[in-house]
Amino acid sequence: MDDLLLRAPSLKAASALQIAHDVFGLDGEVSALPSERDQNFLLRTSANDRFVLKIANGHEQRAFLEAQNAALTHVARRVGFCPTVVPARDGTLLSQTTGLFGEVHFVRLLTWLPGVPLGSVSDQSDGLLEDFGGAVAELDGALEDFDHRAIHRDFHWDLARGLQLVREQAPSISDVQTRALVSVLLDRIAARDAHKFARLRRAAVHNDPNDYNVLVSVPPDTRSHESIGSAFTRTITGILDFGDMVHSYAIADLAIAIAYGVLGKTDPLGAAVSIVRGYHRSRSTDDDEISSLFGLVLLRLCTSICLAARQQAQRPGDDYLAISQGPIARTLPLLAALDPDAVEEAFREARGKTIEETLAARRRVIGRNVSVSYRRPLKIVRGWMQHLFDQTGRRYLDAFNNVPHVGHSHPRVVRAATEQLLVLNTNTRYLHDKLAMFAERLIATLPAPLGVCYFVNSGSEANELALRLARAHTRRRDVVVLDAAYHGNTTTLVDISPYKFNGPGGEGAPPWVHVLPQPDTYRGKFKRDDPRAGEKYAEFARHVRNPGAFIAETAPSVGGQVILPDRYLASVYAIVRAAGGVCIADEVQTAYGRMGTHFYAFEAHGVVPDIVVLGKPIGNGYPLGAVVTTPEIAASFDNGMQFFSTFGGSTLSCAVGLAVLDVVQEERLQDHAQDVGARLLDRLKGLAGAHPLIGDVRGSGLFLGVELVKNRETLEPATAEAAGVAEALRDRGILIGTDGPFDNVLKIRPPMPFTHEDADLLVSTLDEVLSEISQSAGRTL
Ligand code: PMP
Repeated sequence: MDDLLLRAPSLKAASALQIAHDVFGLDGEVSALPSERDQNFLLRTSANDRFVLKIANGHEQRAFLEAQNAALTHVARRVGFCPTVVPARDGTLLSQTTGLFGEVHFVRLLTWLPGVPLGSVSDQSDGLLEDFGGAVAELDGALEDFDHRAIHRDFHWDLARGLQLVREQAPSISDVQTRALVSVLLDRIAARDAHKFARLRRAAVHNDPNDYNVLVSVPPDTRSHESIGSAFTRTITGILDFGDMVHSYAIADLAIAIAYGVLGKTDPLGAAVSIVRGYHRSRSTDDDEISSLFGLVLLRLCTSICLAARQQAQRPGDDYLAISQGPIARTLPLLAALDPDAVEEAFREARGKTIEETLAARRRVIGRNVSVSYRRPLKIVRGWMQHLFDQTGRRYLDAFNNVPHVGHSHPRVVRAATEQLLVLNTNTRYLHDKLAMFAERLIATLPAPLGVCYFVNSGSEANELALRLARAHTRRRDVVVLDAAYHGNTTTLVDISPYKFNGPGGEGAPPWVHVLPQPDTYRGKFKRDDPRAGEKYAEFARHVRNPGAFIAETAPSVGGQVILPDRYLASVYAIVRAAGGVCIADEVQTAYGRMGTHFYAFEAHGVVPDIVVLGKPIGNGYPLGAVVTTPEIAASFDNGMQFFSTFGGSTLSCAVGLAVLDVVQEERLQDHAQDVGARLLDRLKGLAGAHPLIGDVRGSGLFLGVELVKNRETLEPATAEAAGVAEALRDRGILIGTDGPFDNVLKIRPPMPFTHEDADLLVSTLDEVLSEISQSAGRTL
């Protein structure tokens, strides 16, 4: 530590200018900026661009500067308020210069960020402090998956070393009162918090988001750092100086932000609570962290006192070293007087209900196999059209959910439901015009002879009923299904869903279920280049004797966003019907214009099913399922046994169903899906050229799949990579899913209002994520 100060560079402005010219090809003016142990210059070029020229301490290790550069590059992808590294003329991010006495200093150039130090702003509102906490949390979130061996270092500012450092250094504090206070606090932290410190999560941290490393916007029309009144809301514009980075307690940055953020405040606890509240807008803390936080805040301030005492002994009169000491001396006694338990309670309240608590509550009372998406689960509190919002207000582009077909919370649907609920909601045993109205509207979207409707509450119930209809009509039990298919969660539907009965916990196919190969022309036996692939796959149906029903999704979704080959359905239907069976189209995922070309996916195949099953999109999230069949099959089902569903066909569900259909038709969502989907498909196909991981891109309208493979010849599935892509997209605010027998198909089925801009954002972000994944794969080779 002592050496560091002695080996601080001391270049003259002229030398700095020379470096800017020689190394970076930039000319202009330089002025000195403050630094503890390096030398920083503001470089203003003749073109009026501004940069920060950083001359590192002679002691600084190359690896650590590389770590800083890597961290800056890493976080730049996630947050917009940190400097980025400007390459030298030779393309490198780290250059060298030789000082007056032959000593070597590393040189870097960073982008300059606008704003003034938070510490220089006299009127720090609660909102500004919350934003400060929020920015620190965003930075921590961005650093969470960053690592570099050079930040695993023994560093005197590392809070994980704080207790030891303060214990060693406290006796050298010259002021008697301060020395006594530090010693009391040290004992208190050791007794109350030290055992929790050992359990704290560790991560890469900035380690110095103090109020002079954090920049805020300057009010317009003023050059002073003072506020011009409440009309101007300041925002955080920068977090600087990654020179203290270390792998330490993940909560360290919040503790440090609080430690400096409370200095000079008349109500330090109020200020701390604002920072904690802001932090939890985008990041959660666990119980140990929230309970240790105040102890870490005090420990940081004690560390600062101890290190300043030592440094001042070395460089008496250096004002920069003492910049925080006056305010610390004034504020620390106020903090010491607070009851740590009361502070902890205030912090707990400020963090609100965290993700962990919500998850823990769910785990206590909900079955464990009700799964949650993502490594870091999302807590979603609001939806609007093609966007979802989490508890911090962060917006996610929803490229996955096909249930909110016309958009999350579509006002027309919400209004129809609310208005109906205010008046009446009852069952089909009473007459109400909306029941037949909805059925008529639905039948009008379907080809003849599909003319009789039944309403239920889910896709599963609809498939159950479809099987009953088929069995009543054919008086046969056997069912023919496609491999990897999923048709619902009931006992019988699990029996006809290979995805379930062949998956974890499954018990295999019952004898009455016959599985045909999935007609997948990418991975299957007959490929896309075979013009008769459809007929050839259909031939497998001939082996089934006495089929009662053939059921298939018209475009298998759980099966991997598969597009059936031409003439497949027509051929299978012909074979099954000739053998006495009926054909069920499970359109739960594909109905209502999603495929772009047609209102129902089966229409693209030139067939008319005997029974059509509808679910998910037709209620836009309200539980609504429907089965539409022919008068003949309906007549067979009408065998004396009544069919009744308490909620199926309720007044409310019909009102919702009508509103959804209105929106789909009036907003011309099928055409929209065709238009946006074509561009999305095209651009996704374009990505395949740059990313060998992409094996296949397929789909129609807003029903798309991107299949990832490790090898385009062997088609070895890239399952882990697909999961990684979904996670990385989530981190960047985009939601997709994965599916297929190998879970290696990126599944894209957004709400239909998805725009061209959304499509472009999805593609460019996917491009970025795939590059990153292949780079990191390259690194581990
Ligand atoms: N069929 C298909 C093709 C499905 O994808 C699903 C649901 N994923 C169902 C039926 C079952 O629908 P629900 O979950 O509404 O019961």
